Amino acid sequence: MKRILVVEDEQAIREMVGFALKKAGMQFEEATDAEQALVVIASNPPDLVLLDWMLPGMSGVDLARRLRHDDVTAGLPIILLTARVDESDRVHGLEVGADDYITKPFSPRELIARINAVLRRSGAELEDQPLEFDGLSLDPVGHRVRVNGDPLNLAPTEFRLLHFFMSHPDRVYSREQLLDRVWGRGVFVEERTVDVHIRRLRKALNRRGHDRFIQTVRGAGYRFSVRD
Ligand code: CA
Repeated sequence: MKRILVVEDEQAIREMVGFALKKAGMQFEEATDAEQALVVIASNPPDLVLLDWMLPGMSGVDLARRLRHDDVTAGLPIILLTARVDESDRVHGLEVGADDYITKPFSPRELIARINAVLRRSGAELEDQPLEFDGLSLDPVGHRVRVNGDPLNLAPTEFRLLHFFMSHPDRVYSREQLLDRVWGRGVFVEERTVDVHIRRLRKALNRRGHDRFIQTVRGAGYRFSVRD
């Protein structure tokens, strides 16, 4: 059963969310501010944090940033709850590391759908379902990669890197985030190691032009996308 921590100072919203979560078969935990949330997260990390942007004391955005910068909580899925619909705020929320955001008011149905989507995405690099993009296919169980049907041999790290990318398409990851998510949290590896493996992965994919899927985003990191 998935445990969801709701950090929200408004009781009515906590109750509504709690009701929706329980109805969806999820376990509900609550905190009314960031400090309380940190205590809950430290003692028993939830599967996902539903975080209100506007909180008394430390804001939801500051808490999200803090969680992302701590090795132990860097991979914790976060959805921001926000009353702000402004595009720059939306980008800001995702930049500090939220996986998604939901604008108030929202329906219980939308909430559960978004939570499930983020949980699916965040756990996806460990999942077993085959992935396929434009002739590039990856089978996690058989540990096989094929390009237009032809097998492609990849070293374990390149395989894992590609698996992660294909599980999280169209999103930019910094070298630090890739280290956390692909190499594992708390592993001490230099960031330029990521560049080395990206280069190897591109070289392997290059034969059929699929290296264009691994895109460099200047000043930000790397992205997997079938679009240019
Ligand atoms: Ca609030």
